[in-house]
Amino acid sequence: MKKPRERALQEARLNRRLQETSVQLQDTLANLTAIIDNLADGLLVTDLDNTITRFNPALLQLFDLGDLDLTNRTCQEIFSQDVTHLVEKTRLIPNEMFTAEIALANGQIGKAVATAVLKDIGSHSSEGGSCQSIGSVVLIRDITTEKEVDQMKTDFISTVSHELRTPLTSVLGFTKIIKKKLDETVTPALPVNDKKLQRTIRQVNDNIDIILAEGIRLTTLINDVLDIAKIESGKVDWKSEPLQISEIIERAISATSALSQTKQLALYQELEPGLPTLIGDRDRLIQVVINLISNAIKFTDQGSVTCQARHFGHEILVSIIDTGGGIAPEDHDKVFEKFKQVGDTLTEKPMGTGLGLPICKQIVEHHGGRIWVESKLGEGSTFSFTLPLAAEPNGQVRQIDLPTLLKHLNDQLPTSDPALDPSQKTVLVVDDEAAIRELLRQTLEVEGYRVEEATNGREALTLVKKVRPPSRDPGCDDARHEWL
Ligand code: ADP
Repeated sequence: MKKPRERALQEARLNRRLQETSVQLQDTLANLTAIIDNLADGLLVTDLDNTITRFNPALLQLFDLGDLDLTNRTCQEIFSQDVTHLVEKTRLIPNEMFTAEIALANGQIGKAVATAVLKDIGSHSSEGGSCQSIGSVVLIRDITTEKEVDQMKTDFISTVSHELRTPLTSVLGFTKIIKKKLDETVTPALPVNDKKLQRTIRQVNDNIDIILAEGIRLTTLINDVLDIAKIESGKVDWKSEPLQISEIIERAISATSALSQTKQLALYQELEPGLPTLIGDRDRLIQVVINLISNAIKFTDQGSVTCQARHFGHEILVSIIDTGGGIAPEDHDKVFEKFKQVGDTLTEKPMGTGLGLPICKQIVEHHGGRIWVESKLGEGSTFSFTLPLAAEPNGQVRQIDLPTLLKHLNDQLPTSDPALDPSQKTVLVVDDEAAIRELLRQTLEVEGYRVEEATNGREALTLVKKVRPPSRDPGCDDARHEWL
């Protein structure tokens, strides 16, 4: 039993230690707050309900929010969809980092990086050693100046390329005229037995051929530079249309068939039947496949080139397989970099611009897909890319099963009114994506339906009231439509 004096002393010591720890904690907290408040980047922390739990002055400045207290307000209340979508993504996939460009106040542009806040619950949980997401943290940086500099670079490249293309067109045009005149007029007029003159004219012809070939190579390079500059600057007017991958591959194969015939290579197609419809830019995707097939032909001397398309989970996987020289593993990433030609470029004359694959990468990534190569030196190459099927905003993949949809509609017909002409049946398509509406419109119209479109629920309700279905009363014959 301790004496009261000793106990009092021990309590006093404990209290002192508690006070010291509390002061230390407050100091640490004050330091952390000072660091966060002085961050040049905007900081936003939310809990699992999207409620803002922490922010810093830089964030208020970036969004021009004055000295508003954001604590306990929801993300949706304060920020635009691009920020809330990013936060939602970290909730869906907590182990990944997400980045996006977002609109800031006064027309400025920001780059946001978002991750889930993962707390180690290992020692307290029965699962042991795992982490639990307790919210999201977003860091936002103003990148307006970087974007402007990038834009200036792109504008400069575009201007220079344009300026080069004009004189080059004349050089090529006049060279072709000279060649034609030489072939048709000058060469036939020369004495056949003058060996020296014949040799000279052959040399002139060869030189003209070199000028033409190099001129064409330079034009391709300039066109590729302009193309990639246009894509990178966001100036491409991307189309969003329903398309079949089989059609893309067939168009690309027919565009490259002359090339494969010259090299006597077999060109095969292996398309999985019933591949789902995709949404994308048809011409740009054809450009990707043409480029991959042309490369496969260019770097293959014997054997074959095979184009494969398969449905893989939520994606379509397209592969172009060749039996050519292959690519060393250390060069697999390099081939997607601009102006990179790999292999022995000193002895093997580079037959291209080194921009084809970077352009393919930009196009595929614009569609939300990935592109990569699997290859070993001497064993051929397989270039593959994926294209995702249309995704819902919540991250779930939307697959439009058109045959089943049509079957449901057709099954409905006899039960609603057997006497009604199918062309009088109207379907109201409600979707916020124009491409999906167009896909459904085209499919349904082929089946003889009349299609009305609405982009949201409110529009749909207005339309339903305006374009009224007919009365079920057999005596009423002014009815035009029936909603299915
Ligand atoms: P290029 O216009 O030079 O073909 P790309 O960007 O299309 O430019 O290709 C870059 C480089 O990648 C090529 O120069 C070549 O070295 C390599 N490459 C591309 N496709 C293949 C292939 N199928 N087989 C072997 N090497 C390839």
